[in-house]
Amino acid sequence: MAATQEPAAGTPSSDTSAELIDGKAFAATVRERVAQGVTALKASHGVTPGLAVVLVGENPASEVYVRNKGRQTVEAGMNSFEHKLDASVGREELMALIDRLNADETVHGILCQLPLPDHLDETAVINAIRPEKDVDGFHILNVGRLATGQDAMVPCTPLGCLMMLRAHHGSLSGLNAVVVGRSNIVGKPMAALLLGDSCTVTIAHSRTKDLAAVCRGADILVAAVGRPEMIPGDWIKPGATVIDVGINRLDNPPGSDKPTRLVGDVDFASARAVAGAITPVPGGVGPMTIACLLASTLVACCRSVGAKAPDGLTA
Ligand code: NAP
Repeated sequence: MAATQEPAAGTPSSDTSAELIDGKAFAATVRERVAQGVTALKASHGVTPGLAVVLVGENPASEVYVRNKGRQTVEAGMNSFEHKLDASVGREELMALIDRLNADETVHGILCQLPLPDHLDETAVINAIRPEKDVDGFHILNVGRLATGQDAMVPCTPLGCLMMLRAHHGSLSGLNAVVVGRSNIVGKPMAALLLGDSCTVTIAHSRTKDLAAVCRGADILVAAVGRPEMIPGDWIKPGATVIDVGINRLDNPPGSDKPTRLVGDVDFASARAVAGAITPVPGGVGPMTIACLLASTLVACCRSVGAKAPDGLTA
């Protein structure tokens, strides 16, 4: 079972309230396993995994995210390389950097922080990364490998969701899974991963008819929409497992301790009364994303030297 947490002090609790899937605690165990794997790889092959992150322009949210990635990479015993480029950087200069990182033997994972400024073609940049170093799993070859059930670098957020679901359920075989959202970053790879684990998968999106009824059929409901608290408890099958990928910032009422708060795509209070298990926001899927990035960097490094990757860190 996944690490679970008790309701915070003062949080009402009842016998019918869903188990909390504690992504923060789960991510700590993943990071610990990665750190152990890094130590073992250094000892067996004399190689230190390296992650290069490319950040173009000045997006405050991206900068915080990149800083966290760098810190956690180093804490796991790996090398972190940050490349900050001006927002006006040209295609040639960016591609030249990607080429250098592709050829650099100390770099095992390359991540180009999205979104890129409008004048740069994201697809072309992603597809310029060597597929075996594409730790984001966005390269067309990795997308194709995942879709056809071959070993692939897998996008970090859905990989984190899959790890938590496997830990909670054991086998997912035969379960009805509904993924709300069909983005290339979350919804589609999530659906492919669930299909790979033999779920019966439905992908819902903004054109889906009677979304409530579709959601009510789900043993596993993954919400990746980007609309605050859109999915209420009465769309959820009693006992279902709910994975809330959404991260939405809402203003708090005037006079509150903090000006804003984070909420998911699921209305947590009503959903928790019906679901069997649920990820909170914050503290659910979010912390797993960087943990899985570290895991994928270690796996990429292991593959590059022909070493066996530690169990449980891949799809
Ligand atoms: P996205 O690219 O904007 O995709 C959103 C999807 O939701 C689209 O497929 C869209 O359908 C669908 N959708 C929008 N409104 C809908 C509605 N009313 N009913 C049903 N479906 C609807 O977003 P994303 O990148 O996948 O991200 C989704 C959420 O996850 C965001 O809140 C994002 O911040 C969060 N996220 C979190 C992490 C993490 O680390 N925890 C990582 C990535 C993303 P159409 O395709 O029909 O337009």
